[in-house]
Amino acid sequence: MSSILIKNAYIVNMVSPISKADLLIEDNRIVEIGIIEKEADKVIDATGKVVMPGMINAHTHIAMSLFRGYSDDLELMDWLQKVWKIEDLMTPEDVYWLSLLSMIEMVKSGTTTFCDHYFFEEKTAEALTKLKMRGTLSRCIIGDGEAADARLKEAEELYNEWHNRENERIKVCVGAHATYTCPPETIKKSLELAKKLNAPLHIHYLETLDEVNQMKEKYNKSTTEYLEELNTFENHVILAHGVHLNDEDINSLKHIKGGIVHNPISNQKLGSGIANIKKQRENGLTVCLGTDGQGSTNTLDMFEEIKSAAYLQKATYKSATAISAKDVLQMATIDGAKVLGLENEIGSLEVGKKADLIIIDLNKPHLCPVHDIYSTLAYSVNGADVETVIVDGNVLMENRVVLGIDENEIMEKCNDIVKRLF
Ligand SMILES: [Zn+2]
Repeated sequence: MSSILIKNAYIVNMVSPISKADLLIEDNRIVEIGIIEKEADKVIDATGKVVMPGMINAHTHIAMSLFRGYSDDLELMDWLQKVWKIEDLMTPEDVYWLSLLSMIEMVKSGTTTFCDHYFFEEKTAEALTKLKMRGTLSRCIIGDGEAADARLKEAEELYNEWHNRENERIKVCVGAHATYTCPPETIKKSLELAKKLNAPLHIHYLETLDEVNQMKEKYNKSTTEYLEELNTFENHVILAHGVHLNDEDINSLKHIKGGIVHNPISNQKLGSGIANIKKQRENGLTVCLGTDGQGSTNTLDMFEEIKSAAYLQKATYKSATAISAKDVLQMATIDGAKVLGLENEIGSLEVGKKADLIIIDLNKPHLCPVHDIYSTLAYSVNGADVETVIVDGNVLMENRVVLGIDENEIMEKCNDIVKRLF
């Protein structure tokens, strides 16, 4: 059994912060929080530092690191047309290296868990065996007929091969693309598979007004009605975006298992709109945070999403009290765990939970003084302030060095892929 003792930390556990305490990890779990006089294999002095749960990025497409800065400032459909052409040329090996690039980026900005939606996900799973983050993977199911059936088969194979591997750090769910790209038959089959595997359905939902209009034209239904008629909400759902929800939509979602993933930067950059997350939360929906892929958000820094989520609600409501620093930090941690169905294991620092945590040094000019720890973390800290990252009791980054990985090699591999594909 290995143990790590973190001493003298400001513990922001997402329950109630403790200004000076120690935290003991044995194997992959938190076993004690308080004043601890024990020996451990490794001791980390966290004087003047915050220990908090790792960020949970609940919706992304990490191999899209390929598209960082490519065709920015285009309308969504124009941008997608360009991206799809390149995606047709990508190989499984490309997805491996591009996934690793994103995983390093995530670890270096304090993310410990991500929920991915893409293709060649078995390669993202392989990357997870190299850099031992926590990931929920969904093979993207899109289209109809044989093409959709082949993707469904891959989704099931991904589950059989990878679900609960790597000490249960890897989870697999079922990823249908969206209602405007999946006919009823495809959604139905995706749901059947999700039910069979007892896995969540991860789907893009009410992202743009174009989608709202297309669904009206094509089916004379709202996206929510379309999904309801297929009994989608009887399954655990991970609903990415949820930008254009009206009161009826919110009502229909009140008792769902899972929730909505808000991607504020992607929604702004692509001109999708502003999600009314204040209203969604007030009506009992669980709303968490995601980045979307780097094509639409450029970086995977969850601290940027936290700020963006808060400021958008304040600006929309013309009220600084619309949402609080603590609210948005919860969205990035425990609410993300709830939406992914992992709230009993991660998302807060409590005895018995898995040791997924980050350490942030507060001894920096832009973090001084600290009047309110939630304000500091939500509005002043950025991803580069994260010093140490532990996932499942393993130290993945210490003093900003990601262990066991050659960052330069990975960047070189990714630049070679870019040279080949563009
Ligand atoms: Zn997306």
